[in-house]
Amino acid sequence: MLYQEPMLREGALQDQVIIVTGGGTGLGRAMTKYFLELGAKCVISSRKLDVLEKTAEELMHETGGKVLPVQCDVREYHQVEQMVADTLAHFGKIDALVNNAAGNFISPTEKVNPKGFSTVMNIVLQGTYNCTYAVGTHWIETKQTNKKVLNIVATFAWTGSGYVVPSACAKSGVLTMTKSLAVEWAKYGMRFNAIAPGYFPTKGMVDRLFPENLQKMLDPTANTPVKRAGEFQELANLAAYLVSDYSGFVNGECITLDGGAVLVDGTMNYLDKIPAEMWNEIEQMVRAANKRG
Ligand code: NAP
Repeated sequence: MLYQEPMLREGALQDQVIIVTGGGTGLGRAMTKYFLELGAKCVISSRKLDVLEKTAEELMHETGGKVLPVQCDVREYHQVEQMVADTLAHFGKIDALVNNAAGNFISPTEKVNPKGFSTVMNIVLQGTYNCTYAVGTHWIETKQTNKKVLNIVATFAWTGSGYVVPSACAKSGVLTMTKSLAVEWAKYGMRFNAIAPGYFPTKGMVDRLFPENLQKMLDPTANTPVKRAGEFQELANLAAYLVSDYSGFVNGECITLDGGAVLVDGTMNYLDKIPAEMWNEIEQMVRAANKRG
């Protein structure tokens, strides 16, 4: 199928320097791989340096491109500043930032204590602001234009959703930031857009949002009109378009890539069906997945 194939022309991102937070795994890795294939140089960042280094090696081997792995917890502003400094020292410039790093877990909200809520808010909303502020003010101070920020959100950013309340609140904030800065910082030559992916079965997502015992009970594609999961390449195609100059008139937009699921029910409110006694088992599975990394 064509949606499994690369879409942009060869060299569409030639010599663009792109930072992808959370770029060592899942969708971040898939976007980075395609950016490299299109000629970009990439920085991938997250907390686990060993994962980043392995991914960087693999991607350089697979694509022949250049990847700099940088350890950076997006919650810590001084680490974000260091990531920007490392990128500039290594590649000399930054052309695009993809705010993809996130934390999420399913839980009845009465079991989410304030610390759990703020952990997710700090990674997703504060972390996106930290990276956007550090990179954006660099562009403003150095008077560079034609720069792009792409934020990865979720469809529950505007529908809301039970059982993932911290993430839904944080993604709503990121969507609002996208639209706000698309207007305010357009005068500095920046564009801001977002993608709201539907069901893309990455390890990180499956471990934390769809653990094994749930998979036996629920089919995540059942509510998706096209009756399938998303393919990494189709997300990478859209992301590459949005950070490329082809999308020069697209600004402040959030593109939903979910096979129509949000029109049926893109939320996780179906978890109402889970019997109360099963939540302890789910919590253990998610905690074990977090420990494994
Ligand atoms: P993933 O592989 O678990 O990606 C999350 C990434 O964020 C990891 O690489 C993780 O690396 C990084 N991260 C977590 N906390 C961090 C922190 N404090 N600082 C820096 N990096 C941090 O999951 P994914 O499915 O690819 O998700 C990617 C994005 O897509 C997320 O924004 C997610 O909300 C969004 N999304 C995914 C789906 C889907 O179906 N897969 C659907 C809707 C939205 P470390 O652990 O090394 O820090």
